[in-house]
Amino acid sequence: MNEEFEKDLKKELKNLKDEGLYNNIRTLESPQGAWVEINGKEVLNFSSNNYLGLANHKETVEAAKKALDKYGIGPGAVRSIAGTMTLHNELEEKLADFKKVEAAITFQSGFTANLAVIPALVGKGDTVISDKLNHASIIDGIRLTGADVKVYDHCDMESLKSVLQSDLQGRKLIVTDGVFSMDGDIAPLPEIVELAKKYNALVMVDDAHGEGVLGTHGRGIVDHFDLHGEVDVEIGTFSKAIGTVGGCAAGSATLIEYLKQQGRPFLFSSAVTPPDVAATIKSIEILEKDDTLVSKLWNNGDIFKEKMKEAGFDVGHSETPITPVMIGDAKDASEMSSKLFSERVFAQSIGYPTVPKGKARIRVMISATHSEDDLKFALSKFEKVGKEMGLI
Ligand SMILES: *Cc1c(COP(=O)(O)O)cnc(C)c1O
Repeated sequence: MNEEFEKDLKKELKNLKDEGLYNNIRTLESPQGAWVEINGKEVLNFSSNNYLGLANHKETVEAAKKALDKYGIGPGAVRSIAGTMTLHNELEEKLADFKKVEAAITFQSGFTANLAVIPALVGKGDTVISDKLNHASIIDGIRLTGADVKVYDHCDMESLKSVLQSDLQGRKLIVTDGVFSMDGDIAPLPEIVELAKKYNALVMVDDAHGEGVLGTHGRGIVDHFDLHGEVDVEIGTFSKAIGTVGGCAAGSATLIEYLKQQGRPFLFSSAVTPPDVAATIKSIEILEKDDTLVSKLWNNGDIFKEKMKEAGFDVGHSETPITPVMIGDAKDASEMSSKLFSERVFAQSIGYPTVPKGKARIRVMISATHSEDDLKFALSKFEKVGKEMGLI
């Protein structure tokens, strides 16, 4: 490689390390679960998005194996040429039923869902109105549009209103995360929908952390607020509670037909593999049948947050099982994460640019797979490390 370029990259990497912002990427030597093996050691898993344990569930694995035998592994093409199999259509129909919408389209990931949908809906001469803390994939999706961008303060309806009252050009699209993944708070969707109606804007919600978590049987944020039919576009991912991989958009039949013509990652990047699609179908069937996993998740989250508060930790203002343990300085958060790891608790620290500077934290991801003993074990380790570091 060009020597000067290589030197620049090394300098930037060193800066990241000096600021405590360097990602220490852990490698799992076991399947996802309440406990995982890392560096030959069993550690309590407080870092995965596998909210319900579906990533390594007997039935999802079985469904994937069956699909593998029947359809093979490779999708062979993009969805619009020869990559659409009966399984893809089956999943899209199932999703539409589950979310109580007319139709759904699936993508390779939640990230590509945003890259597909946002630029298909708005372009040059239009306006996107975006929550300040929206996910990176929404921000990147917006960057591809060429539209005017207005950012409103996080979940602040006065701020949103004042943007909507200003002079905005073209089609207006309000975009928000459903559940904000770093804080665990929920977007005030009923108010957003009301303002959108008043000012003639479209509403798009990215429900990545709401699916399988919020609403009846984990149907998501729209169901949670009983807003069926009121939200123009729902984005989702299968990589979190659903336990597999892939993304989706759900809404009216016309919208979905349009996205199948205009969503660039749908047209120019290959379809998701058959075993993944089959496992996703199975996950949704599991959710439809029974909501005990969802209840267990909430129960675990409530218990853990309460106990951490009692122990003196600041757990932010989460309204979901996501539990941010607020530390502040990125170096302290990173040190705490390492100390917890030595105590066999795997809880990642999160710093800038994922969260604002000075708001570093340990983000605890609770799962339905954690037992009461697991939570007790974690609490004792957090208390031990928190005291050692003078945090509580
Ligand atoms: C995780 C997440 C994504 C990305 O989903 P993938 O399927 O992992 O690409 C998109 N949007 C939000 C809000 C997320 O939290």
